[in-house]
This record gives sequence, structure tokens and C-alpha cells, in this order.
Amino acid sequence: MTEAIDAKIKARLGEARRILITGHIRPDGDAVGSMLGLGLALEKAGKHVQMVLPAGLPHVFEHLKGSELIEREVEGEIDTFISVDCAEFSRIHEELQTFGEPFINIDHHITNTKYADINLVEADSVATASILTEHIPAWGLEIDRASASALLTGLITDTLGFRTLNMNPKAFRQAADLMEKGAYIPDLYYRVLISRSFKAVQYWGKGLATLERDGQMVWAVLSLKDRKAVEYRGNDDADLINILSSIEKSPIAIIFVELSKGMVKVSWRARGKKWDVAQVASEFGGGGHRAAAGATIEGSLEEIKHRVLRVTREIL
Ligand code: 5GP
Ligand code: MN
Repeated sequence: MTEAIDAKIKARLGEARRILITGHIRPDGDAVGSMLGLGLALEKAGKHVQMVLPAGLPHVFEHLKGSELIEREVEGEIDTFISVDCAEFSRIHEELQTFGEPFINIDHHITNTKYADINLVEADSVATASILTEHIPAWGLEIDRASASALLTGLITDTLGFRTLNMNPKAFRQAADLMEKGAYIPDLYYRVLISRSFKAVQYWGKGLATLERDGQMVWAVLSLKDRKAVEYRGNDDADLINILSSIEKSPIAIIFVELSKGMVKVSWRARGKKWDVAQVASEFGGGGHRAAAGATIEGSLEEIKHRVLRVTREIL
């Protein structure tokens, strides 16, 4: 079946003149790495490609070669719209939703709603970058060093450095192939998984001061006030969730990040195969994977915290 999809994608890309590629809102390493990995390969094939993130490129990915080509706006006409790592149409930046449903949707989320004409969705892949690493050659395109570095970044970030439960031998083989194409793993790994700004770690401190535990669950809260106090520039959790999910005897970790007054981003992480936090997130209009899921919820921090803890406890 994927051969038929490959043939369709190859034909469509062959005809395409002006291509738009985007990833999901609040893009992570897989969204950015997949955009760049595919975009650079298409450019090399002579296509006019616009890689667009209306909110800009998160600065942790600025070291990636080709990332300077990522723009905030679309210029001129486009004939082929591609989304990567985007489980739902609503996860595409609002500014780009005016282009309608993408023609091609490439993703690995089990909750993907298959909103495009051609949907290449493989939920057993560790990352969208893994799907692209496998399929790009079948579309007659070449993965060069810059494209390989971007794709390897997607593999590294979504697997937290090749250690998530969904890790498979294929992903290790792909990492080896991408290294052979020139991607330098020590630097890529350090940039996205190890290196932290001083402010980000101060921000962790604010969140860690709120740490609580009940039964299997552990959670922390990051308020707007915390973010302001340490002048942290992002509007995310600075990956504090990964610290919470390392706490022994607490297989479920939850973080609450106040995005703006009345809007809270919740992230869940689960350790062990018996939990499915995507199911909990979908109760709140979100989604994700069994071991990692998120949702953006309207309401006050206190109210959402109570509701989310209660529902998580009930379902899990
Ligand atoms: P995070 O908590 O790190 O933002 O996201 C964890 C996983 O859940 C990622 O795979 C992400 O794409 C997915 N996710 C996060 N927020 C949402 C959401 O609001 N809707 C959907 N469908 N998936 C989400
Ligand atoms: Mn992903």
C-alpha cells in the first residue's frame, strides 16, 4: 500500500512547481527537521520551495544548515502544500490554514486525522523524520549532508536520544545511514538534548519548586509569572517534563504551562507500556502518542490542574 502512496507522491512532486512545507504549531525537532529534510531535498531537485513557520524558527534549531531559509510568511502562489509531523489540520498555524487542507500529510501520530488528499501516516515510526528518511529516495530525491543533519535531528529529538519505548532497529539503521551522509551526531545531540540556556534552568527551578506527587503521578506548574521572573524567552516548558519523567516510582508525569491568561498547555509523559496518555489528552481536545501527549486547554491554571489530575487518575 505504501508503494501506491509513494507513486502518488512522486508523481505529484514531479509536477509541483511552487511548494509550501510546514510543521505543527510550536514546532519541535521532528517538525523542523522534517520540514528541512524534505525541503532541502526538493530544492536540490530544482523545485521552488517555501518552508514556513509563522511564529518563526525556535532558536535551538538555528545551527541547522538551511534553517535560515525558513520564513514566517508565504510569498506568491503555491501549488503544492505539504504538512509534516502534524496530526490534525488545527495543528497547522492559523495563518497557513487559509491555504486549505494540505495536499500531502506526512506524519507518525496515531491520532492523525488524515486531512489531506495523500496521507502518508505510519504510526509505528519513531518520528516523521524516520518516515522521510525511508521514503525520500523512493520519490527520486537525494538526502545530502544538510538534509541528513535535519532528519537526524528529528530522530534524536522524538526518541529523546534513541531511548523511547517505541525505538526500533530501523531507526538505528537510519541514524547510521544519515551519519554516512555526513550528519555529525555528537554536535546535533548536544544542541537539541543537552545544551540549556541559563534562563531555561532558572525556569526549571521555578517549576521544580511546585513539584507534587500523588500515587503514580507527579506534576509541576509553570506560570506566566515564573516565565517573566527569569525572563525565559520561550512559551514552552523548556523540556522540564523530561526531568519530571525521570522520577522513580512515578510513571506518569504532567506539566502545566500557562501560555497566556486563561490558556494552559498540558503535557503528559508515561513510562512503561501499560499507559496510554494520548487517550487522556484526547479527552481535552489534544492528542499525541501513548507515551507522550499534550493538549491546550482554556481555563485558569488552578481549575485546569484539578480537572486534568482528576481525569488522568480516572482513566489511568
Ligand atoms: P508535547 O507535550 O511535548 O507538546 O507533545 C507531546 C506529543 O503530543 C507530541 O507528539 C505532540 O505532537 C502531541 N501534542 C501536543 N499537544 C497536542 C495537541 O494539542 N493536539 C494534538 N493532537 N497533539 C498534541
Ligand atoms: Mn514527531
